[in-house]
Amino acid sequence: MYTNVLVPVDLEHKDQARTMIRTALDIADDNIKLTLLFVLPEIPAVVGLYLPDGSTGKARVDAEEQLQELAKASGAPKATNIVTAFGRPHHKILERAESDGTDLIVIASHHPGIADYLLGSVAASVVRHAKCSVHVIR
Ligand code: ADP
Repeated sequence: MYTNVLVPVDLEHKDQARTMIRTALDIADDNIKLTLLFVLPEIPAVVGLYLPDGSTGKARVDAEEQLQELAKASGAPKATNIVTAFGRPHHKILERAESDGTDLIVIASHHPGIADYLLGSVAASVVRHAKCSVHVIR
């Protein structure tokens, strides 16, 4: 039923991310096109002036390596798309879903340990604004 699945991953919470990836693989068709997306915080230009050259590029490469390892450890297909972006997580998740024709987003309801909230801020915004189906993991 679902073939083009986006899993937004917060690399600070890899255990949770593994569950999300496995759930995506369970729900989707066998010929799943899977995309893992991590959104890095945008560095204000004035702060960037004080960082060593290439810092943001290195952060991006590090994140992509971590996503690759996570994909492998979670049994994701070799062709899994590894994507990083700078900005606000909910904006970038929704933007990617629209531009890539995603038919399902698999997201966690909130970070571990914040169980009092029904939905975290990123998850709430994605559920509210996504134009495709959203599977929320509690
Ligand atoms: P909380 O408000 O409890 O921190 P969030 O709504 O921020 O919860 O996080 C829920 C889910 O949103 C995460 O498990 C992840 O799927 C997604 N998410 C949050 N931050 C990011 C990020 N920087 N990049 C990609 N996905 C993210």
